[in-house]
Amino acid sequence: MTVVAEAPTFLWLEITGRCQLACGHCYADSSPLGDHGTMSAADWRAVIDAAAELGVGMVQLIGGEPTLHPGLAGLVGHALAAGLQVEIYTNLLHVTAALWKVFTLPGVRLATSYTTRPTQPAMRRSRAGRARMPGPARTSPKRSAARYRCVSA
Ligand code: SF4
Repeated sequence: MTVVAEAPTFLWLEITGRCQLACGHCYADSSPLGDHGTMSAADWRAVIDAAAELGVGMVQLIGGEPTLHPGLAGLVGHALAAGLQVEIYTNLLHVTAALWKVFTLPGVRLATSYTTRPTQPAMRRSRAGRARMPGPARTSPKRSAARYRCVSA
């Protein structure tokens, strides 16, 4: 029997573990104490190039809060130049004028989520607890996806 692996068409790139918030339901355990991990901008550009070569059509830049990553605009530009569409998954808490310009570039789209449920910090670091917490609604079209995350050891 021959097994043929299907190349992903959509790739999540978790470029930071930092966020202004520390939601109890956060699947990534992001908070103001989070960092940008060990991946350099050059590392992320290499991942983006590899994604384009694989036939990925869109990368989503997410975290944490991607707008807190100092290299976000550059990574968006690199992905667009590589022929990829870009989705930025942001909490929209604070977007600078410069980033709004990036957000309106052709090929860039935004995604966000919100919840009306109160956060429960006591459950914040418990994966089991978080599994019981209903998270914000997230919609995603049927697609082949892969997630790539690198955090500092
Ligand atoms: S805003 Fe999003 S990334 Fe930030 S802590 Fe809340 S769920 Fe996590």
